[in-house]
Amino acid sequence: MESDTEKNIGAESVPKVTLSNGAKIPVLGLGTFGSDNYNANQIAEAVDFAIRKGYRHIDCASVYMNEPEIGNAISGLLNEGVVKREELWVTSKVWNDAHDEVVESCKKSLNDLKLDYLDLYLVHWPFPNYHAPGCDGDARNPDSRPYNHEKYMETWRQMEKLVEMGLVKSIGTSNMTIPKMELLLRDAKIKPVVNEMELHPHFQQSELFNYLAERNIQPIGYSPIGSPKRPERDRTKEDTVDIEDPVIVKVAERLNLHPAEVCIKWGVQRGEVVIPFSVSPAKIVNNLKAVTGESITNEEMKQIAGIDKNCRLIKGQVFLWEGAKGWEALWDLDGKISN
Ligand code: NDP
Repeated sequence: MESDTEKNIGAESVPKVTLSNGAKIPVLGLGTFGSDNYNANQIAEAVDFAIRKGYRHIDCASVYMNEPEIGNAISGLLNEGVVKREELWVTSKVWNDAHDEVVESCKKSLNDLKLDYLDLYLVHWPFPNYHAPGCDGDARNPDSRPYNHEKYMETWRQMEKLVEMGLVKSIGTSNMTIPKMELLLRDAKIKPVVNEMELHPHFQQSELFNYLAERNIQPIGYSPIGSPKRPERDRTKEDTVDIEDPVIVKVAERLNLHPAEVCIKWGVQRGEVVIPFSVSPAKIVNNLKAVTGESITNEEMKQIAGIDKNCRLIKGQVFLWEGAKGWEALWDLDGKISN
């Protein structure tokens, strides 16, 4: 009998969402942030395996420090004829220390990924506040500043230029809030087609999710499983665990799936694009299967809607500026841009 990892689910069975500019993005992508747990070669191997098994969407970023290795994997697959470039959706992101050098940063990612265009380029965070990769959670950079819309628009103009130059097909945002998005939508010539944001059953962000949906901006959900392997510096004692939630576990038992796969299925059924991470062949395949197969029922969807704990896991505290009260300041919780 074929084992799970030998089965090819088929890229064509993964649905796609049409974005506001007409581009079609597969609802499942492979996350590539190995954090402290996995090195660049392991992630490149996971990308190679995932594409062979039917993934057509890869979520990259320059700050993940693995784009050269992922580029080798992708170019190998293209040369081998496993996949054609136009069948792939590759995302990258400009890191906080390159908000003044967006075009150069994008060209570097293209060079590393060995591609001549990106399907999607994102502003990774709306702050140019830099911190060293892997730094302690309490680390603060004295140069960090609150959100500055004029500066953000200078960055966004360069994003728009990338589209005009043909280097990227679509542009979008990540880690935005409603007040910041209001300003961007007012001032952008090319509107963002997506916002990449933390989304999982215990952190559903319904207000922002609905705001985006009403404006035809596709939410891409990161940490869709609740990032169970995130490092200690990104954990607090209040954090809850999605994959242990009794409602998720019960649906998993009915569908004979791992609770992680239920989280993925839920995200897609809710209307998200999801980008779960794994380097494990079995998990990579199972996550692909999770977006096909039997659905979560409407009643179960209602039950999962009821387990939101407003539990933000990626708080972003390392981007805080001096004088900021706490990580909440990054997220404009009172509906106004914090300074
Ligand atoms: P996820 O919620 O995707 O959790 C990943 C972990 O879940 C893996 O380490 C894996 O464990 C485990 N897992 C995956 N599939 C299964 C399964 N089927 N069964 C059991 N366990 C499973 O969180 P991440 O924080 O990794 O986020 C995913 C991606 O989102 C990142 O890789 C990155 O691309 C993106 N991201 C974007 C951000 C942004 O600011 N735009 C911020 C954070 C993430 P194991 O390691 O054992 O396989």
